[in-house]
Amino acid sequence: MSNLRARLSELTTLEAMLPDFPGHAHRVLARVQHGSEVFPIHAIELGAQDRRLPTLAFVGGVHGLERIGTQVLLSYLRTLKSALGWDEALNHLLTRMRLLFVPLLNPVGMALGLRSNGRGVDLMRNSPSNADRGSRWFELHRGQRLSPYLPWYRGQTEGEMELEAHTLCRYVEEQLFDSEFAISVDVHSGFLPGDRIWFPYARSDRPFGRTPEVLALSQLLEQTHEHHVYTIEPQCINYTTHGDLWDHVFDRHEIHGSGKVLLPLTLELSSRAWYTKNPRQLASRIGLFHPVKPHRLARAQRRHKTLFDFLMRCVLSHRRWLPTSPAHRAALLAQAEERWFTPGDP
Ligand SMILES: [Zn+2]
Repeated sequence: MSNLRARLSELTTLEAMLPDFPGHAHRVLARVQHGSEVFPIHAIELGAQDRRLPTLAFVGGVHGLERIGTQVLLSYLRTLKSALGWDEALNHLLTRMRLLFVPLLNPVGMALGLRSNGRGVDLMRNSPSNADRGSRWFELHRGQRLSPYLPWYRGQTEGEMELEAHTLCRYVEEQLFDSEFAISVDVHSGFLPGDRIWFPYARSDRPFGRTPEVLALSQLLEQTHEHHVYTIEPQCINYTTHGDLWDHVFDRHEIHGSGKVLLPLTLELSSRAWYTKNPRQLASRIGLFHPVKPHRLARAQRRHKTLFDFLMRCVLSHRRWLPTSPAHRAALLAQAEERWFTPGDP
């Protein structure tokens, strides 16, 4: 085994898990070359095959430093594997919906311990989507085309996506755009206090087209799990960014014009508790984004399974809670404006 690949235990774990899902599909979406080595991007597809059925997709490892996202998804896959062997409710559920996983989108970045991919491009700044407002010179974090040696590099050319980014967008388009209702969950980690669920847009501080549906979903979560731990908010609440992959995917879905609903969510795990309780983590780059102590890692892996199960049921049962009448949608949008988009927001 080469040196770089030996640093990527998540890929080894994922590949060892593939035979555990007989009767379900596995595919290699692309192979990423780095030097003499090649790293596959795997997808695991559980449940029904009809792409028109409700679909829930999980994505992880977009930012290579944020290993916990991939590990949380691998842990959930282990749970599902066990449950598929005995749980009739789950097996029945999966005859009526689809469950997709791309747990490690950026294997080279993860092996190298980078946020970016192996070519220095931040995949979450790499789509052709541009923020409504241009950047000032000091706002590199919103995405920059100056240099791959600086963080948040968007890539050199507008419109040309990196292999990993292109692979994800193409996969989502193929697998989710015909679905009558779909949610995607992209798992990241960062410095903010408390775990967050973000929804589009990252590029604009105005409500995106499915804001009423997201509010309905968050009300459902609040009613069903009153002590849930998540702050739900639009991604733009902190600052807007260029090149967000999910903005791009969502806009393409709307152009697709089918009237179907796609809700792209980002689960941002808070790393603050991990390093404030274990300040030595601050000495390593990876420690800023990842729980180092085994019990915290186990807790992070356990913590989100309730949410994932909830989302599975929401996707299957979407007809029971999605707003359909224009009046209901308008009322939800007004509430959402009040809650998330107060006038005068930056
Ligand atoms: Zn991230």
